[in-house]
Amino acid sequence: MRPVPPPARSRLGPPVAPPATRADAVGLDASDHLSAFRNRLALPPAGTIYLAGNSLGCPPMAAVEQLTASVDLWAMAGVSAWHHWIDLSTDIGDRLAASVLGCGAGEVVLADSTSVNLYKLAGAALAARPDRPVIVTDRGNFPSDRFVLEGLAVQQRRHLRVLQADPTPSAVAAATADGDVALVCLSLVSYASAEVLDLRGVTDAAHRGGALMLWDLSHAAGVLPVELADASVDLAVGCTYKYLHGGPGAPAFLFVRQEHQDQLRQPIWGWFGQRDQFAMGRAYDPAPGIASFLVGTPPILSLVAAEAGIRLVAEAGVEALRAKSIALSDFAAAAHQALLPTEDVTIAGPTAATRRGSHIAFRHADAWRLTQALAAKDVVVDFRAPDLIRFGLAPLSTRFVDVWDAAEHLAAALAERTYEAFDANPARIT
Ligand SMILES: *Cc1c(COP(=O)(O)O)cnc(C)c1O
Repeated sequence: MRPVPPPARSRLGPPVAPPATRADAVGLDASDHLSAFRNRLALPPAGTIYLAGNSLGCPPMAAVEQLTASVDLWAMAGVSAWHHWIDLSTDIGDRLAASVLGCGAGEVVLADSTSVNLYKLAGAALAARPDRPVIVTDRGNFPSDRFVLEGLAVQQRRHLRVLQADPTPSAVAAATADGDVALVCLSLVSYASAEVLDLRGVTDAAHRGGALMLWDLSHAAGVLPVELADASVDLAVGCTYKYLHGGPGAPAFLFVRQEHQDQLRQPIWGWFGQRDQFAMGRAYDPAPGIASFLVGTPPILSLVAAEAGIRLVAEAGVEALRAKSIALSDFAAAAHQALLPTEDVTIAGPTAATRRGSHIAFRHADAWRLTQALAAKDVVVDFRAPDLIRFGLAPLSTRFVDVWDAAEHLAAALAERTYEAFDANPARIT
């Protein structure tokens, strides 16, 4: 790689992390206890630096095997294979509950997309609080989540109260103090800044206001210990194709706390939620427990792939994954300090890696063109409008040298202004 001119000194005070070198990265990789997991993943070709595991995790080798086996079963057994597949959504849900979500068997299922599950659970929460007209979220929440909540508010003649500030426990307490709030819905890790919210503090604040709490765990599941039972969380959703390595469009998960399952009724009544699914009865009679939150036929091929990813994460252990994620995030901040012009490229979100999820977002006015300049060098990161470049730090696949080399490519693109050759209009997928 070409040498990069030294960065301008920051005027913003002391460095956020000690300066780093590429040799440090090599040393950190050598002592990484999780490094062997890379051999269990199908990785992009050598020379590609893949830092987009926060958008789509790399495929587990076991997923490839499981998909082949499932297609064989489909061919050999045809429709009879459903005897084998019928409880897959709940079985995988139980595995995820125990290994990743800190909750019990019978509280989690895999089904549908995160957006659809959010609709189902938010709808169930509103139905349980008919006399409370308000839903609370924050303006930094993931767009699909805000749209789903806004749509529900319009359909049900409720009001969406959008917090403009950080959703701290005190902000949520203030927003729910009037007793009008049916539901508080937030993302535990910001898709933009990576900031981690206070799971227990915010949940407690929502409860003190008499509201139900629904968390979106998409950027947390598999990289952050999430203790849903301990924190008395009511409801949660999240996707499985990011840090859970479940595959493109893999079904999302949903969690409903045991004690709510018989009171809450979700709005999409389908035959997979029916008590006796094949009785073909006339009236909808919801199944007891978490099964009533299912709707239609599950995507089996996607489910078996998702199961392979969840098994891998369970085997590595969330505590170990979090430790590596923090180390990668710290190192990314150190590489930023060592290589990048810190006045032009800043770190969005919290300065402490312990308060970030598993990506780091760099802010630069030309973020989109820089993302393209990196892609031209086979460095896969992503852009989030209007000005963020996200480095996804997936602890099962990302090496410390990947972080260093990507930062060096970013520094080179800035120093040589190669990004100016790229189109300033964002593409369809960024
Ligand atoms: C990735 C992500 C989603 C994805 O939603 P889908 O409906 O599965 O496409 C939802 N919410 C958040 C916070 C996300 O990060």
